[in-house]
Amino acid sequence: MANTKYIFVTGGVSSSLGKGIIAASLAKLLQARGYRVTIQKLDPYINIDPGTLNPYEHGECYVTNDGAETDLDLGHYERFLNVATSKANNVTTGRIYLSVIEKERRGEFLGKTVQVIPHITNEIKERIQILGNSGDYDIVLTEIGGTVGDIESLPYIEAVRQLKWELGDENALVIHLTLVPFLAAAGELKTKPTQHSVKLLMESGVRADILVCRTEHHLSDDLRTKLALFCNVKKEAVIESIDASTIYDVPNLMLEEGLDTITLKKLNLSTNHIPDLTQWNQFIQRHKNPKNEVTIGLIGKYVELQDSYKSILESFIHAGAEKEIKVKVIPIHSEHVHHQTVESKIGKLDGILVAPGFGERGIEGKIEAVKYAREHNIPFFGICLGMQMAVIEFARNVLGIHDANSTEMVSNTKNPVIDLMEDQKKITDKGGTMRLGAWNCKLTPGSLVAKAYQKENIQERHRHRYEYNNSYKKQLENAGFKATGVNQETGLVEVIEIPSHPWFVGVQYHPEYKSTVASPHPLFVAFVQAAYDFKNKKNTKN
Ligand code: GLN
Repeated sequence: MANTKYIFVTGGVSSSLGKGIIAASLAKLLQARGYRVTIQKLDPYINIDPGTLNPYEHGECYVTNDGAETDLDLGHYERFLNVATSKANNVTTGRIYLSVIEKERRGEFLGKTVQVIPHITNEIKERIQILGNSGDYDIVLTEIGGTVGDIESLPYIEAVRQLKWELGDENALVIHLTLVPFLAAAGELKTKPTQHSVKLLMESGVRADILVCRTEHHLSDDLRTKLALFCNVKKEAVIESIDASTIYDVPNLMLEEGLDTITLKKLNLSTNHIPDLTQWNQFIQRHKNPKNEVTIGLIGKYVELQDSYKSILESFIHAGAEKEIKVKVIPIHSEHVHHQTVESKIGKLDGILVAPGFGERGIEGKIEAVKYAREHNIPFFGICLGMQMAVIEFARNVLGIHDANSTEMVSNTKNPVIDLMEDQKKITDKGGTMRLGAWNCKLTPGSLVAKAYQKENIQERHRHRYEYNNSYKKQLENAGFKATGVNQETGLVEVIEIPSHPWFVGVQYHPEYKSTVASPHPLFVAFVQAAYDFKNKKNTKN
């Protein structure tokens, strides 16, 4: 669609400058002015998607409604914009090449030599424009992963150069995010790395229209003038991005710097509508001024890396703000929890969340934590593998099925209370073959979950191969372990609860993928409330 405007966000000097947050913040401001906006991430690695990557490599794998396993930046996009993303919002080099090679095999380039330019770059350009051509958006922001100068980013930069030329300056612009480091010895902020980075971009034929400068100190007027002069941009296009105490402050910081105004001016779009950030700012107020506090243990095996559980941590921020409760999350390594340590590790917590995960490492610690939470009435929330561990724990310690297990851990276990889904049995490929994306679930009226959601029919996102084994359902339910959410089409149990416990909920799906600033997830909200109630009860007893 000729009317769609394109914004490209590139990064220079260093990785981890927060391109995703800058893109999401600008998109938020544009959305708050009434524009329909989406954000796309292009990742220059060769995996088809991050689904097969270890969280230590790439942080959390985010999942969209349409079942794409994607970069965690898409989580930020959804949390900021409250608009669902899809497969089209994350494209990797692997996906681009796969598609070009498949076309070659089908004979679509018959007679031609298939090359990086034009075939790969055309495919990239097409993937960028798919979102624009849908007619659903006025503005498409495309974040180019990696750092300018990386060999693997070159085809993307070339695609941006071509698109900018084809679409014209009024319809496409480039925002370059760089670092302005502070040299303590010199007592100065240094502009040289930014100058070099802009020059490097220029060598590929791409001129930066706007510079966003990550910095630990404010940029002086002189420094802005210098950056503008040497980097070929207008002075008002030099935007300071100072370190913020929370990512949710960044839209306001960008508003103060005028990033949205300069963007709209350059794209020849109206700046008449003042951004309406009322709801956003109410959230920030509540987040920053909590009235109470709870301490929740996050039990997982990737806890060394914050990014591994990004969406869970953000969901606690949304739910905490909703309830005006500060949620202190204590990461606890599941391999460090065992019979002797469980009391000291989790005995004092107000709530316990057992995290998603794959494979055998650390699962006995998770089971031990579930047992402790169940026996001591501590609010418990199990997500995906965490829910599966709750089933195993109950089968072992209440039903007395001592060898109960998941076939993921012991493939020939005699009591597979968690077993491979029927349609997974013939699958051998690992990539993109799990049960993925949004599935329906019907909740039992009157259950904790139905009360939390305030409805009975829900849709939540999945990412797993194993499931609750219905052959044990009768036994589990008779002993008080209820299945309170079931997929009606397949009969798969999606939610379990123990009604005799104050708050014990396990979900096979990932509620954390759907929590946003504008719409905190009801289960996280209910869990935080339960933790708070539990804490109060403990205090009145003492
Ligand atoms: N490993 C488990 C399965 O595949 C749980 C997956 C998860 O926690 N995301 O079923």
